[in-house]
Amino acid sequence: MIWYKSDITQIFEYLATSENGLSTEEAKKRIKLYGFNKLPDSNKINIFKIILHQFTSPLIYILIISGVITFYLNEYIDSFVIFAVVILNALIGFPQELKAEKNVKALKEMLLPKVSIIRDGVANEINNHDIVPGDIVLLSSGMRVPADIRLIYTNELRIDESILTGESIPANKTDKTISEDNLTPGDQKNMAFMGTLIVSGRGKGVVVATGTSTEIGKIAKNLYEIESSQAPIKTKIEKFTKEIGTFIMLASLIIFFIGLIKGISVKTMFLTSIAVAVAAIPEGLPIVVTIALSVGVARMAKKNAIIRKLPAAETLGSTTIICSDKTGTLTKNEMTVQKVFSKNTVYDIKGSGYIPKGEILKDGKQVLLKEFDNLYLTFLVGALCNESTINIINDKPKITGDPTEVALIISAMKGGLKIDHLKSVFKLLYTIPFESEKGFMATFHKHNDTFFIFVKGSPEKIFELCSFHSELSQLEAIKTAETFSKDGMRVLAFAYKEISKNTAILYQTTGQSEYIHNELKELTFVGLQAMVDPPRPEAIEAIAGCRKAGIRVVMITGDHALTAKTIAKQLLIIIDEEEVLIGKDIENMNDDELLEKVKYINVYARVTPEHKLRIVNQLKRLGHIVAVTGDGVNDAPALKSAHIGVAMGKSGTDVAKEASDMVLTDDNFATIYKAVKEGRIVFENIRKVTFFLIPTALGSILSILGTLLMNIPIPLVPAQLLWINIVTNGLQDVSLAFEPGEKGIETRPPRKPEEPIMSKTLIERTFLIGILIALGVIYIFQHTLDKGYSIEKARTMAMTTMVFFQFFQAWNARSETVSIFKIDPLSNKFLFFSLIAATLAQLAVIYLPQLQWIFRTEPLNCNDWLLLLFISSSVVILVEVDKYLRKKLK
Ligand code: ADP
Ligand code: MG
Repeated sequence: MIWYKSDITQIFEYLATSENGLSTEEAKKRIKLYGFNKLPDSNKINIFKIILHQFTSPLIYILIISGVITFYLNEYIDSFVIFAVVILNALIGFPQELKAEKNVKALKEMLLPKVSIIRDGVANEINNHDIVPGDIVLLSSGMRVPADIRLIYTNELRIDESILTGESIPANKTDKTISEDNLTPGDQKNMAFMGTLIVSGRGKGVVVATGTSTEIGKIAKNLYEIESSQAPIKTKIEKFTKEIGTFIMLASLIIFFIGLIKGISVKTMFLTSIAVAVAAIPEGLPIVVTIALSVGVARMAKKNAIIRKLPAAETLGSTTIICSDKTGTLTKNEMTVQKVFSKNTVYDIKGSGYIPKGEILKDGKQVLLKEFDNLYLTFLVGALCNESTINIINDKPKITGDPTEVALIISAMKGGLKIDHLKSVFKLLYTIPFESEKGFMATFHKHNDTFFIFVKGSPEKIFELCSFHSELSQLEAIKTAETFSKDGMRVLAFAYKEISKNTAILYQTTGQSEYIHNELKELTFVGLQAMVDPPRPEAIEAIAGCRKAGIRVVMITGDHALTAKTIAKQLLIIIDEEEVLIGKDIENMNDDELLEKVKYINVYARVTPEHKLRIVNQLKRLGHIVAVTGDGVNDAPALKSAHIGVAMGKSGTDVAKEASDMVLTDDNFATIYKAVKEGRIVFENIRKVTFFLIPTALGSILSILGTLLMNIPIPLVPAQLLWINIVTNGLQDVSLAFEPGEKGIETRPPRKPEEPIMSKTLIERTFLIGILIALGVIYIFQHTLDKGYSIEKARTMAMTTMVFFQFFQAWNARSETVSIFKIDPLSNKFLFFSLIAATLAQLAVIYLPQLQWIFRTEPLNCNDWLLLLFISSSVVILVEVDKYLRKKLK
């Protein structure tokens, strides 16, 4: 079967389907026959690659080389311990990294695109995966074509097929049968191919191929890959570890030479300096960053924010301004028409939600509609110039399309209009869909032998297209629309026009839509409908939260300025009579003028996606870190330009989602706020891990260096240094990446993106702690020797002290400012249990004979323990005092 050459009836017959689609049962059978509509997954998790990755960092190379050298020096124990470190690191890293990869994969599955199809004669939404040949698919702008489709209806359908053909100019599609032979996909104008992008218009078609049988499937290109661009924090950390690595190598070189000068053997010094390097190198840091990011991403996903580009997880934390759509994001997008205006009269409509029950009142008394009266026409145009549907099954409304339009169907039903019947007698011939930029929608109908255009849209736009019979009636309409807007309602105006038969026939014979576009003037105005859309209560809370967190919230909407202002006031985005900037005014400004405006304006109305992009760019020029929301095809540039592009999961188009960094599965503003909070925690946790690792590394270096300079024996043998590396660094650093986030995190001002990993406070504290650890270890070592104990026992004491110093430092690292006595010790269970596990491991080293032999330890008694715990806990006191003093000084 050559699809483009066959006519529709042939194809329907061949695929055993019809205009009403398949039955659900038949679709189930076909899934078994044809398989799921998906392409082979190129992002499969590669276990082997993850394992290999555990051994491919410069820090690990140093370890492996050291291990090999110590082996050749016949120091089997040290060599064994070094390789144990390498393997342990891999054992800790592997499951974490696997989990991170699985998280990303799971997120991808949450973003699986959905599509509207017709089955059993009704419109339904299903996952792209479940499409089978024979399904009837509805296409609209912003979508990616879900399968290979033979078009059976098109309405200004234009498709960007560049991924298939390389042609960047969108192709105009048709539903006519083509007779030529051997056409390439690019020339098959009545076909839509999987993966291509619908730039504009509407269409309907029958699925002819799915999955790997599609044109794109033959090339096997994966469409829905999550981009894995590197987070800035990773680059920062890589640079940081390189610096730290160099510093540590230098320090161990110095230790090596000082040892030689002091007359210690080359071999001992070689082993010692290797051990110092190994113990001090924060080999866990890179993996911990991955973990912290992935923990953050997983937490965000739980709160309905799906990160598409990993850097966003971090950048979110420094957001300074959120530009949000109004409708659906800040408001519930549950539209209910409450007022109708027609022929100088305002009517009230009762009832709420999508249930077609409620009277139409005039001055409190119910009115009955007269057929083809203006009030009746207002409802009629609203219901038929409409692309949405509502099905009420068992009192449960199921809607498809735009809530604004659904509200108009409901109001018409309340007025007693029989929608299905009207649809059949007003046969729809052509649609000009609603787009924000145009501000209106029009449909072309045939009723018996007459033809009509029905138009609805924003009052300004419709008034422009209408000719009023008196200036007075026009003024009245304008005034009423404003009054409705002032009450925070969304207002739509309705108009119609009868079209001459000649024009209608011209259109029908040529199929040229210009004939209809040309008729969009001198329309007859019939009325207004105004609908409420209540603010989301959680958005109000989140906006207050943003204010506390130093984040500005800006509303950008296509709605009327007065509506926007009233809703903005209800949401507390603005407090009183603040200026609202409208799209038209933005048009007349150059970028510098706009720059001055964006400094203080928080509400923008009647804005098009183009204006949105300009606003975002000016905010960026001011140095803001901008998050912006969007859902339409044309929002893509603004979403891309912003630091964080946020797409709507429910109402958003595929294009918007693909351009975004984050997708909100609940379309809710409050979710952005929650994600920002998680973003802050991600950075904080990476900082915590760093602040745990670096001071303790400094402590090890200074202890060895100190004893060398003081002419006393080295307090730790290589095996012990390496052991410390395993017990202390291995698990604690990972567990700090799971910190739940501190209490005050949402009231701090946003972090500057260029802020380094270690703050000034932390660097100062690092030196204090490093020195204290060294002093403590050297003191305990010397003290034990002075009391006449063996050097083995003194070393056991020194090593255990060091281990506990690091335990306590892990607690210190849990907060930069808050006393650790004010933090619930169990709020990070991972850390708590890793400390217990590490303590048991340390006890084993001290008391198990086999391990005593490996690590050259001796058992400790009760007094020893008391002393070393006393000394090692001093690091907590030191940091607590430091925290206290810094708070006081502030
Ligand atoms: P937003 O979604 O930001 O509130 P829109 O650009 O969708 O703004 O809507 C702008 C105006 O266009 C609305 O105030 C309303 O008057 C009109 N409008 C909205 N949806 C439709 C529609 N489906 N058909 C016709 N007009 C519409
Ligand atoms: Mg809208």
